[in-house]
Amino acid sequence: MTVPKEQHPALKLAYRRRNVWDCLSGQEKGLVMAITDNYKSFLDMAKTEREAFETSLRYVKSAGFRPVDDAIALKPGDRVFAVNRHKALIAAVIGNKPLEYGLNVIGAHMDSPRLDLKPLPIYEEEGLVLFKTHYYGGIKKYQWLSIPLALHGIVIRDNGEPVYVLIGEKPGDPIFTITDLLPHLAKDQMDKKMADAVAGEGLNILVGGIPLAGEDLKDRFKLAILEHLSREYAIVEEDFISAELELVPAWQARDIGFDRSFIGGYGQDDRVCVYTALRALVETTAPELTALVVLADKEEIGSNGNTGMESVFFTNTIREIASRCVSGYKELTLRRIMSNSRALSADVNVGLDPGFKDVVETMNAARLGAGLVLTKYTGSKGKYESNDAHAEFVAHVRRVFNNAGVIWQTGELGKVDQGGGGTIAHLLAAHGMDVLDCGVALLGMHSPFEVASKADVYMAYKGYRAFYTR
Ligand code: MN
Ligand code: MN
Repeated sequence: MTVPKEQHPALKLAYRRRNVWDCLSGQEKGLVMAITDNYKSFLDMAKTEREAFETSLRYVKSAGFRPVDDAIALKPGDRVFAVNRHKALIAAVIGNKPLEYGLNVIGAHMDSPRLDLKPLPIYEEEGLVLFKTHYYGGIKKYQWLSIPLALHGIVIRDNGEPVYVLIGEKPGDPIFTITDLLPHLAKDQMDKKMADAVAGEGLNILVGGIPLAGEDLKDRFKLAILEHLSREYAIVEEDFISAELELVPAWQARDIGFDRSFIGGYGQDDRVCVYTALRALVETTAPELTALVVLADKEEIGSNGNTGMESVFFTNTIREIASRCVSGYKELTLRRIMSNSRALSADVNVGLDPGFKDVVETMNAARLGAGLVLTKYTGSKGKYESNDAHAEFVAHVRRVFNNAGVIWQTGELGKVDQGGGGTIAHLLAAHGMDVLDCGVALLGMHSPFEVASKADVYMAYKGYRAFYTR
């Protein structure tokens, strides 16, 4: 008699991607819904890098973290944070073991693709007042047409005073939009390649249309808006030059599906990892090794700049922490701490979309609902510019997750030579630490409405917690 196929002992030898929902107890399902409801609120409060920073800072402060500069000495269990220009944040819980044993680091980024206003944005044409934009990060430009946009940001007057702008989020607020061409007259547009259908200089935002009185007054439509801005915000046109005003989708994060299994929302790359990593850290008390989260800016434009992962903020903050933990601290101490550390580069990966199956290699592609994604390498054209994690470290993370009941899967950023991309993994690795890319699979990544599985968001939180406490 043959053994029934489903019971054959050899079946245990094969890798099997599991579905998270199959593995959750009723109680854990409730936790998934509770955590992801909170995550949606986070997404709504954190639509720009500055807002993600402020929201994260409020969270760590409310959880008893204090500025590292305020402490003279640090002991196990202490909770500290450091800030960098309203855009980057590091928070840590000091471990029981000496810092020289290394840290458990999770790094994520708070910036997301968006439309920034140009330094001189405002003009009028044919009775319409418009703002010129320069897009930030990798976008498919056509996705930003014909959707409601909200204006978020800050203007700094020449005396240094900040003016905060937030229009389009409250019910009753006006919103902004980029108009698209009607299909009736879109023959030429439709014949273009998608990449060329909308020009970068075509991403102009409609902001007004009531002129000042006096038909012979030049630029009277634009001047009317400048008058409005002067009245409401006490700013002049030159103030736009020292401003960071960003257009983001005006909608809120929502449940998707009859069963509410997914979350749709703007900025989930990479705020899904920001939220889950931060929550994991906040819930970590007295870890063996010091647990640290670094939330960086500017990842979407190459991690440059002094708030990006490439800057010294990360090293300087660990130096500040180490000098308060280690007696007789010296530069070599920092080098040892760094190279003995382990890091998860917490960033999103592509989820297999049945509508776009041909861009991934299905055996190695991540599925939505199949758990936290371990991505050994990213890069392009032969793993170029990828961190490519060491087998030993991948095994370490596997073990930690398996022991903690974390449902995880392996993933790859598209099929070979299809394209690719990068994360902050290589910048963490440059310090000598072991690094693995590990995050949530998304559908519609970099679109104004990205989709994640609630099950995966929960597993990210659970996995990051396990990594910190292991
Ligand atoms: Mn990302
Ligand atoms: Mn991205």
